[in-house]
Amino acid sequence: MLDVQSFAAGQWIAPDSGAREIASAITGDVIAQAGTSALDVQAMLGYARDVGGPALRKLTFHDRARMLKAVAMYLMERKQVLYDLSYDTGATLSDHKIDVDGGIGTMLVFASKGRREMPDGHVFLDGPPEQLGRTGAFMGRHICTPLQGVAVHINAFNFAVWGMLEKLAPTLLAGVPAIVKPATATCYVTEACVRMMLESGLLPEGSLQLVSGGLGDMLDHLGCQDAVAFTGSADTALKLRANPVLLENSVRFASEQDSLNASVLGTDVTPDTPEFELFVKEVQREMTAKAGQKCTAIRRIMVPDALIEPVIEALKGRLSKIAVGDPRLEDTRMGALVSASQKQDVLEKASLIQAEAEIVSGNMDEFTVKGADKNKGAFVPPMLFHCADPDAAVRVHDTEAFGPVSTIMPYRDLPHAIDLLNKGKGSLVASVITNNSDVAREITLGSATFHGRLYFNNRTSMAEATGHGAPLPHMVHGGPGRAGGGEELGGIRGVMHYMQRTAVQGSPDILSAISDQWVPGASEITHKDHPFTRTFNEVGLGETFNSPSREITLEDIETFAHFTGDTFYAHMDDEAAKANPFFPGRVAHGYLLLSFAAGLFVQPDPGPVLANTGLDNLRFMAPVAAGDSIRVRLTVKHKTPRNDEYGEVRWHVTLYNQDDAVAAEYELLTMNAYG
Ligand code: NDP
Repeated sequence: MLDVQSFAAGQWIAPDSGAREIASAITGDVIAQAGTSALDVQAMLGYARDVGGPALRKLTFHDRARMLKAVAMYLMERKQVLYDLSYDTGATLSDHKIDVDGGIGTMLVFASKGRREMPDGHVFLDGPPEQLGRTGAFMGRHICTPLQGVAVHINAFNFAVWGMLEKLAPTLLAGVPAIVKPATATCYVTEACVRMMLESGLLPEGSLQLVSGGLGDMLDHLGCQDAVAFTGSADTALKLRANPVLLENSVRFASEQDSLNASVLGTDVTPDTPEFELFVKEVQREMTAKAGQKCTAIRRIMVPDALIEPVIEALKGRLSKIAVGDPRLEDTRMGALVSASQKQDVLEKASLIQAEAEIVSGNMDEFTVKGADKNKGAFVPPMLFHCADPDAAVRVHDTEAFGPVSTIMPYRDLPHAIDLLNKGKGSLVASVITNNSDVAREITLGSATFHGRLYFNNRTSMAEATGHGAPLPHMVHGGPGRAGGGEELGGIRGVMHYMQRTAVQGSPDILSAISDQWVPGASEITHKDHPFTRTFNEVGLGETFNSPSREITLEDIETFAHFTGDTFYAHMDDEAAKANPFFPGRVAHGYLLLSFAAGLFVQPDPGPVLANTGLDNLRFMAPVAAGDSIRVRLTVKHKTPRNDEYGEVRWHVTLYNQDDAVAAEYELLTMNAYG
């Protein structure tokens, strides 16, 4: 029997007399025990806040992103161990891949986004500076810095690895230590994964702790710098979020709970279109992957009236081929539910649904189980119900049977489908299989606000579509109302849940110093050498080059027009240009101005500037006519190391005319050698 330990304040703690037994989902035999009454929750919180937090906050976002990548690679090499352990949770090999590989992949996406979308510093900037005064001497901007407390992650049983890593990756990237509490039923898999991460030596001390078994009174000791992220049942969520200490201290509580996700077959689909088969396949896959124990699984299937029979027939055909059995067997397509109590719960919920819907596929008395004792393991068949009157029904819209259980229901028209979707009272995801963009738009306008994610699929996207049920690290996961009102993942949005957004206001110099980014109006530094001759390490924020000025002649404009082929009337036809409210007459091409600007600011010799990689935020603000002159101001705005050889310099570029009015403004990106 496995003794599943906790990792608390730097020590592994074995289960004691307060431990709970954990049975195999396949045999029903007790295989492990977890839980200790000796957990010193105050010491754990202190260890995270006083040791883990400061160590993580010393690192930059890029340091932490690199750390995540290294941890993910370490786990990748050892994933077979996690697969082997996971069979006893009832999961098949393809389920393990969703859990283990999906979790590692999520970590890798955060590692990559952290490097690309966050600064190599300690302050994340949320949006551009705002000018708050008349002249720009007083500015404001929003910054995000890591919470100085601890994130407590309470996870569901269904994804022992992904459930942990999808919360851990944004938390650690933010710079916040975590205490992970997996659901007891599958905590032996999580424990093995935590052991690997700790043994890797890649995480700073104190940044990760584990509670196997009960959490004790940990939540009663949380404060305003802490956060709780919960996944599980609505009942537990309600109990935990109502904790008076959490309420009193405004502790962030993100919840992801029951969700009656739906899939809609579009009104445009007929049995002979590719969307019909696509729909049936997606529904079957979502019903049976992880034996339906997925927070995003399709619980309600909505089909136009006329197609209800053909869809039921097609689904019955596919579901009847799902081989249920020991997940270690190669031809098993669906394993077991996680435990006997979960099986009982699913059957109870299914009978509530059955009061409003007839069963059309999946019979507890008739299905067979390969390679295991049907009565000892937590096996159920895929169960499809048909609810003929979904308007009168209540249970089919509010009962989440957390297993391979779905209800198909007819709809009359799109407003009706939208009404049925929204009867879920807030869901994680709805999918719509349609090849008609108007259908997609109407459903979006009618029900996006009831969903955390809308997934559209059709013949064009099906080869690459990631699946109704797959929460992607790039996209928000969570949903309103019944789904918990929480939000996680979503790229850097998910990282911001573990940071505090603060509005900072002050002079441009103050804002530049805080944000590690030069703000217009802040001090400019001039150096005797041209900045293009200075390496990445040498140029400093605010370092500025002011070019001489250059007159733009009519000949320049004509030459540019004929050379490039851009003979647009505003540059070539004085009368037509004058009739245009933007121009005084013929004006220079914007691209001519950019080209001349480059000619004014470059230093042509080989040097540390390796490449020009682009422009951002280009705006032409005032027309430049023949006879006008332009000059350029080039200022180092921000520097980001990119690899071992070079870093990116973001230059703020302003083009002025002879009256010092701004003609154009943009950011130029160059790759500069470190030197
Ligand atoms: P629970 O809500 O019972 O448990 C979720 C997590 O909360 C587990 O880690 C559990 O730990 C923990 N927990 C329970 N009580 C407390 C407490 N008093 N203090 C601190 N932590 C606590 O959900 P389950 O995982 O057992 O799943 C039950 C049902 O939840 C499913 O049948 C399904 O309906 C729903 N569910 C929904 C999901 C979704 O995302 N939509 C995902 C998973 C489940 P422990 O295991 O030790 O009790």
